[in-house]
Amino acid sequence: MSSSRIRGARRTSALAALSAFVLAATTSASAGRLLADSATAAGPVAQARGAALGPCMIKGSSGVQMSEGIPTGPGYARATGTVHALNLMVDFPDARGEGSALDRLAEFFPQTQEWFRTSSYGRLDYRPAAPVPHWLRMPKPFKQYGIERGAPFDPGYRGLVDDIVKAADPEVDFRDYDIVNIIATPNAGPSALDTVLSVTFAGNREAPVADGIPLSNTSFVYSRQDDGSGSYAETGYRVLPHENSHTFGLPDLYTQDGGGAAGHWDIMSEDWGADNDLLGWHKWKLGWLDDKQVDCASSPGTSDHTLGPLSRSGGKKMVFVPVSGTAGYAAEVHVRGGNDASVCRPGVLVYRVDADVDTGHGPIAVSDATEDSGGCTRSPNVHAELSDAAYTPGQTFTDPSTGVRISVSKGGGDGEYRVRVSRRG
Ligand SMILES: [Zn+2]
Repeated sequence: MSSSRIRGARRTSALAALSAFVLAATTSASAGRLLADSATAAGPVAQARGAALGPCMIKGSSGVQMSEGIPTGPGYARATGTVHALNLMVDFPDARGEGSALDRLAEFFPQTQEWFRTSSYGRLDYRPAAPVPHWLRMPKPFKQYGIERGAPFDPGYRGLVDDIVKAADPEVDFRDYDIVNIIATPNAGPSALDTVLSVTFAGNREAPVADGIPLSNTSFVYSRQDDGSGSYAETGYRVLPHENSHTFGLPDLYTQDGGGAAGHWDIMSEDWGADNDLLGWHKWKLGWLDDKQVDCASSPGTSDHTLGPLSRSGGKKMVFVPVSGTAGYAAEVHVRGGNDASVCRPGVLVYRVDADVDTGHGPIAVSDATEDSGGCTRSPNVHAELSDAAYTPGQTFTDPSTGVRISVSKGGGDGEYRVRVSRRG
């Protein structure tokens, strides 16, 4: 399980190497006992896809816990339309809430819902609710729950969720919500500077049941992602959209080495520092890009594609070049705008997506157009080397093993770019 893999997160001065992580609970035979048919377990509906995009809908093998494959498997929350998020603020006898619970909630809202509205081009209408406006006091000290980085759901988290349900149930109808955010008092557990405890259990059908439904998509947020740079008020909320994106089925892109695989190009890679967006692949996977906004370059020969910046609504956004049933290359345009706040070299980003690589192991790898440049960003907690990874007119990405070539033939600045894809037969 990923818990043992990630356990004992390194203490490092490079905050970018620290991020929250996910545990997607495996489904065992006993899951059938539970109510798999609840609203939260319905999962994204596989849309009828045009045959032209079929080769680009890569899929991982069944052993992958949380895959980049399309469509996303069942059990996760829907990422389009109205999503109701229940927020519960909890504290402990040995870590009593400081200040009001609603002030703690306000560290995450309204920015989180705005982040989702912007990133989804208005397709995700995120509705946070806090029916319990005070701290929910847990019956046991924080230490007794055994919450540490990498802790599995059983037994610690199950005990905590049981106690949360007991405390909240008189005031909450859990059937009203698609996802649950447990926001702990920041003085419970270590500082996020030392160890990030924040975690999501997604698609977990064996979670405790409340009002007849399992709390199968639940995010837990601890401490404060405050690097001391004075930007906490603008950037500290970003752990929550990261965690919630797990409930929609997105894997972690950072690895044990930090953000070196995907840099700051996706909030599933780095959720510290300046605002960032999701990659086009993730937006397509979540249903925020239509099929008609994606070109699938699956045939041998040469094709041209005109792409607009991903941060703007409408138009063609991504070309995908499948190289097998499980992997391929994506190309898309990034300029500064929307949630893409730290772009310092606009251009065409090229990255490999591998649906057979699991969460936390680098399922997406960005190709660096300017290797060993040191990058163009001065923004703290932004992976520097990949900050100038985008290709500009005249540059070509080549994969010698498959013969795929992606050239930027035209474009520049903040406008559209023309991309030529060639692949052999
Ligand atoms: Zn994560």
